[in-house]
Amino acid sequence: MLAVRLVEWGKPPELCQVPIPEPRGTEVLIRVEAAGLCQSDLHLLDAADGVPRLEPPFTLGHEVVGAVVSTGKESESRVEIGARVVVHGPCGCSQCERCTSGEDNYCDRRHELDWTGIGIGLDGGMAEYMLVPDARHLVEIGALDPAAAAPLADAGLTAYHAVELARQRISADGVVVVIGAGGLGHLAVQVLRATTSARVIAVDVRPQARELALACGATAAVDSSQLTSELDKLSNHKADAVLDFVGSDLTLQAAAGALRSRGELVVVGSAGGSITVTKGGSLPQGTRLSIPFWGSHTELRKVIELASTGNLAAEVDVRPLGDALSALGDLRSGQVNGRLVLVP
Ligand code: NAD
Ligand code: ZN
Repeated sequence: MLAVRLVEWGKPPELCQVPIPEPRGTEVLIRVEAAGLCQSDLHLLDAADGVPRLEPPFTLGHEVVGAVVSTGKESESRVEIGARVVVHGPCGCSQCERCTSGEDNYCDRRHELDWTGIGIGLDGGMAEYMLVPDARHLVEIGALDPAAAAPLADAGLTAYHAVELARQRISADGVVVVIGAGGLGHLAVQVLRATTSARVIAVDVRPQARELALACGATAAVDSSQLTSELDKLSNHKADAVLDFVGSDLTLQAAAGALRSRGELVVVGSAGGSITVTKGGSLPQGTRLSIPFWGSHTELRKVIELASTGNLAAEVDVRPLGDALSALGDLRSGQVNGRLVLVP
């Protein structure tokens, strides 16, 4: 079968022919129907010196939808052949308190594992078939379109989890700022619209991304130079929460400046920026700050529910699996609106 693999750190991924794997024990084999492309895939490819614990070669792709083909003995009675599923990607140790409650994204033994998730150390879904380590990582998608559902596995789930973290601090007539209206950000705008009554200001450097944010229900969409004046227009006490899907020095600084007292700063983006946490520094008094990773199994179910009821829909740009390398190039050059999805 065809697979898009990271074969060596610092080298472009390769289109390879590899055998279709066979499921053993708790494993489940799925026939991939769609796999999303994430900015995190580029971070992985750009890690020239490698990422600790992760050993190439492995197949990329951590946003995966497919149909169950076969299972190992121990997963036999736990999933139906033919079931259409989305994969909860941040597979952990399966043993710790976090994993057994479906919070694999915060596995207590992550530092002992040689993977961070499917497509990140473990073989992922940019392929015709994929092994899922255990049936417990699957959520059925019902009648959802596979290409539209694949981005929900990370872009949708991570955005949902970010909103969950901030929810307590979002007031009914408040304002939430979403920085970066790309794959994750455009879904965060929709989650905020569907589950809060706050007004949303989206910030993006690209006009096309700002248009998408408005189409997703943002109250306003601006570039960062207009953020302060837009906030002044909508509120007399700045933002209840800022969700930063970029995470650079510049955006973290903008986020600190946009927050009201006792607000929530959720740093999702991996651009490598930093902000000083100190009393009397740039973060307002009472700021709560989190650096979330992906989301839980329970949250993935809620995301699928939101999509199934028409409240969450990824904007997708669908390409054949064989065009993976040019698709990665387009993502890198900022030519993607919403989410790129590969279809075998
Ligand atoms: P994307 O490329 O689809 O979207 C990023 C958006 O940010 C683009 O629209 C881009 O124009 C915009 N942008 C870039 N610089 C900006 C700036 N200075 N100000 C305003 N907007 C700016 O990327 P994505 O796939 O949505 O991923 C977003 C980030 O989240 C990446 O860093 C990715 O690695 C990270 N991520 C984190 C997690 C997690 O669990 N924490 C999960 C998935 C992705
Ligand atoms: Zn664990």
